[in-house]
This record gives sequence, structure tokens and C-alpha cells, in this order.
Amino acid sequence: KLASKEFRPDPSVFEVKGIRIGGGHLAVIAGPCAIEGEEIFFEIAEAVRAAGANVLRGGAFKPRTSPYSFQGLGEEGLKILKAAGDRFAMPTVTEVMDPRQIDLVCRYADILQIGARNMQNFDLLKEIGRTDKLVMLKRGMSATVKDLLMSAEYILSQGNHKVILCERGVRSFEDSTRNMMDLSAIPNAQGQSHLPIIADPSHATGRPDLIPAMARASIAAGADGVHVEVHTCPEQALSDGPQALLPEPFAALVDDLRRLAEVL
Ligand code: PEP
Ligand code: MN
Repeated sequence: KLASKEFRPDPSVFEVKGIRIGGGHLAVIAGPCAIEGEEIFFEIAEAVRAAGANVLRGGAFKPRTSPYSFQGLGEEGLKILKAAGDRFAMPTVTEVMDPRQIDLVCRYADILQIGARNMQNFDLLKEIGRTDKLVMLKRGMSATVKDLLMSAEYILSQGNHKVILCERGVRSFEDSTRNMMDLSAIPNAQGQSHLPIIADPSHATGRPDLIPAMARASIAAGADGVHVEVHTCPEQALSDGPQALLPEPFAALVDDLRRLAEVL
């Protein structure tokens, strides 16, 4: 299989706008859950850049549990994302929910995110596999590591070999956290696949007080980076405000992660 270590024994390293992801390079992907407007997004982008993030995230098409919740700004959001990425010299990542959005999102973003809810949307995986964009594939909330790797295989089998895996927690009986972070998924996937894997402690825990410890644990477990939701004003966020980390603790976290990555 194309994602397997048998096919490619060495870790894959992908480069996007001068940032290398995989093979021991530390990816720090950060930004708000959703792009809510130009002013607030630029403010957050500037803050995460100053804190040491090297990839900017922001959702323009949001997979919300309720149809009455903020669904994202769509193309207007993508324009803001691209402008902020250019302004602060960071590659960008944003979610694509539907094959019909792929061309549009490709025009504005550097990395295509496939969300947990779409990890087994096979038509979406195949279509994204026909692009040449870097892809960040998130683990489904009840998917096994094998399922995740098979979903990556869908993309690879169409010709696009640039897939980054993302552990973002799985559903469990624990109700004090949003999901349960599966740290073992990191070395587990790395034992089977050459693809980079990063961790998303924001969606895995849903709690800013737990994000730093789980981010550090992910890097200690061998993750190629982290994905953290940051907001300068979480109380006013239109999506995932309660789990957003403020810029200050985020900056302290990035310092810790860089020091950790150095000794590993
Ligand atoms: C997100 O990154 O904002 C998101 C919706 O994540 P997930 O698909 O992991 O729930
Ligand atoms: Mn979110």
C-alpha cells in the first residue's frame, strides 16, 4: 500500500511555502476555528505568527453540529485567509467539506483540510487525491488508526502523495472532555506509515486548560507537529470559543514545544 512503510521506509517530508512538515520538523498550525471577519482574523494571525506558529488555520466552510450555528463565510473567508497568509508569510490550511468546493478552496489555500466528519467521505477523498495540494486528513471520531490509513490511501491512490495525518481525539464515555485524545495513535500510525502525523489537542480535549499538556505529550510521543485553535477574544468567537487558547499561553506552549523537539 502506498501509505505503508513497506512502500516507503523513510518518513515523508512535504514542503509548503518554505515550511517543511514531517521527518522531525515541527509544524505549529494555529488560528481560530472559523474566519469571522478580516479585522479579527488579521489580529489572530499576527498573534499566532508572533508566538511562533508556522502555518495559519481558519475555517471558511464549517461542519457545525447544528444547521442554525454559524456556517462560515465561504469564499469571503477564503479571501481573508489568503490575504492574512500573504501578509504574515504563512502557508494556510482550511477545510473542504464537499467535492464542489475543491476548485475554489485550491485557489486560495495552501493545504486542504479534511475534517473528522468527512474522513470516510470517499468521493471527497478521491477528488482531493486528484489535486496536487498538500492535504491534512483528520481522524474520524470513531475511526481506527487502520481506517485513517485506508482513507489516506484513497488520496494517495489517485496520485496525490502529500497527506498529513491528524489525531484529534475519539469519542468515549468520558464526558468532562470533548473527545479522548489517543496519544498511542501517533507512534501507532508512524509504525505503519511514512506519512507525517500531527496532533490536535484542541478538538481532542475541548479545554484550554488541557491543551498545553496534551500538546507537549504529543510531541514527546513523536508527533510531527500540533494544530491548536487560538483566539484573541474567545467569548466572542462564533465557533469553538470555549476551547480556544489565548495568544499568551499559546506562545508559552510553542516555546515549550520547540525546546522539547530539540531534545528528542
Ligand atoms: C476544525 O478543525 O475546526 C474541525 C472542525 O475539526 P474536526 O474535523 O477534527 O472536528
Ligand atoms: Mn474547531
